[in-house]
This record gives sequence, C-alpha cells and structure tokens, in this order.
Amino acid sequence: MYKPEYLFGKTVPEMGTTFEVAPGVYWLRMPLPFALNHINLWLLEDGDGWTVVDTGIARDEVKAAWHTLAATYFSADKPLKRIIVTHFHPDHVGLAGWMCAEFGVKLWMPMTEWSHARMSYLDDGKGQLDETLSFYRGAGFDDEMSAQVNNRIGRFPSIVSPIPNSFNRISEGDDIDIGGRIWRIIIGTGHSPEHACLYCGDAKILISGDQVLPRISPNVSVWPQQPTANPLAQFLDSLKKFKHLPDDTLVLPSHDWPFYGLLGRLDDLTAHHEERLDAAWVACAVPATGVVVLNALFHRKFDTHQLFFAIGESLAHIHHLEHLGRVERKICASGIHYFQQSSKTTSCLKL
Ligand SMILES: [Zn+2]
Repeated sequence: MYKPEYLFGKTVPEMGTTFEVAPGVYWLRMPLPFALNHINLWLLEDGDGWTVVDTGIARDEVKAAWHTLAATYFSADKPLKRIIVTHFHPDHVGLAGWMCAEFGVKLWMPMTEWSHARMSYLDDGKGQLDETLSFYRGAGFDDEMSAQVNNRIGRFPSIVSPIPNSFNRISEGDDIDIGGRIWRIIIGTGHSPEHACLYCGDAKILISGDQVLPRISPNVSVWPQQPTANPLAQFLDSLKKFKHLPDDTLVLPSHDWPFYGLLGRLDDLTAHHEERLDAAWVACAVPATGVVVLNALFHRKFDTHQLFFAIGESLAHIHHLEHLGRVERKICASGIHYFQQSSKTTSCLKL
C-alpha cells in the first residue's frame, strides 16, 4: 500500500527562502491564487551559476519573492544561467518571460509546451467562445454553469508574462548537464501534452512537475480545443516510463512535499483511475452526460476554476471508457452528448 515518506515531514520553506533537499538542489515555494495555493519550484547549482526549474504565476508578490531570492543567491560571479519550464500551465510558465528579460537568460522547454504557451498567450479567445460554449453545453452544462465559460476564456495572459519569442527545445531522452550532473528528460503526457520531468541518476532525484504528485492526483482533462481526445490513456501509459526508476528516488513534485515512495505512488495513481473508470461506468447505467458523471465522481461544490478541471476530468474518464468499448455515445439533436454502458445502449430517440 502506498504511504509516502516526506523528506521534511510537512514543513515547507517560507516564501523567498529555500530548503536544500540534496547537495546543490534547493526547494522554494510560491503562492497561487487558487484552492491549491502554492507551487514548488527548484533552484539547481549549475557550476558558475544557477538553473531554475519552473517560475510561478505572474503576480507582483511572486516577482517580489524572486527579487528576494535573487539578492540571496544570484550574483555577478554566480548568475542565473537558465530557466527550464516543465509545461505550459500558468503556475509553471507564468514568469518565464519576465525572468528571461529580468535576468538575461534563455528558456528551455519542450516544443509542444512552448508552442501551447505562446498560442494561449497570443490568442485572446474571442474567436473560441461559440465553440467552447457548445463543447460544455454538449457535456451537460446548464445556463448557470455556461455563464462561467466567459470567465475562463482568454484568462491565460492575465496570469502569465509574455512568452519568450525563442527558446531551447528539450525532448525525451535528452541529457542536460547541470553543474556537472546529468539530468535526463522524461516526457509525460495526459496532464499536459509534452510535460518534461528531469531525472538525475547519480543523485536519484526526480523533478516530477505535475506528472507525479504525492497526495492529489494530477488533473487529466479533455479540453474544448481537442474535444475527442483520450488523455487518460496517454497519462496511464506515460506513468509506465517511471517504473524503471529506483524506489528510493527522491521525488520533487510541483505541489505538496518532496517524498519517497515513487513506485507505490505510480501503482496508486493507476488504481485510482481504474476505480474512477468503474465509478464513471456505473453512472452510465442510464444515458448520462458529462455533468451527470461529474456529480457521480465528485460529491462537492466547485469554484469556477475547479469546475472546469472537474468536468474535463470526468470527460477524460468517459472518453477512455468509450475507447475501451465500455460505453457508447449518442449525440442528440440538441447537441448534448449522452454515454451509456454499451450492452444497454438505447437509441437517442428514447432518451
Ligand atoms: Zn500542470
């Protein structure tokens, strides 16, 4: 049974300070204006300078914390040399552009993640409103829920600084020399399209980003831009890539606490999704929308931010069930998508 062993218990570094989790590897935290109220970032000694992994959201208090850290750690003799960003989500890429300009350094990032960040930053979303609304209406959103779509669209640039025009691409299997130690890039999928994790075999440390978290399960969602996607299959598949790593690997996740227990956590995450798949399938005993499955999977109220993750996650489970042949989809004239256990599928007309 999975039971994480936290490196420092649940003690966390104060904002603007660090904990050294291994020689030359420092853990820092930045605040987030969400229910999940923090992100972990990593500062790595890199010979005559520093490499940072992930940046925090674009807010004044996070910039101020970076200035405090810079005064302590960065100097003319030992400057920040490089920023590595694991994936395009705002809490990770948010201040990458600002930091590249502020410290005169380059961004390193997977191609799909950089492209997605650039696209999300430059697209104001106005052209997507009808298609996005129809996607969520199709999932069973009522008027009240649909009204929240407007709050989501085009929000990315409000919490992210301009994405750099150029970057250094990192890809699966790349070996990056950081201060004489080799960190191998392992790409995860499902949570985001090309999520970079960094593994140092010498130190047995995995910077896991959002791909593997110790307490909460990483969000795996279907989004309106790719309405027929099956991200859960990708996520479960990419978890297998981490199974060859030693069980005494120190995992540095983007949320909660550094921990030991990687292999148990991989099994636990897989089992968690299998349980959720069964629960979603049970909810489809009668024709069910995405919202009906959401209510079966999550028995609580959500704020706007959480609602979109929850419906995306519910659809991810339904789509995987559809892919496995366990449910079938019917689309009614109104555009609402219903899913039902395949052996009991009825005609749309009978709904
Ligand atoms: Zn993420």
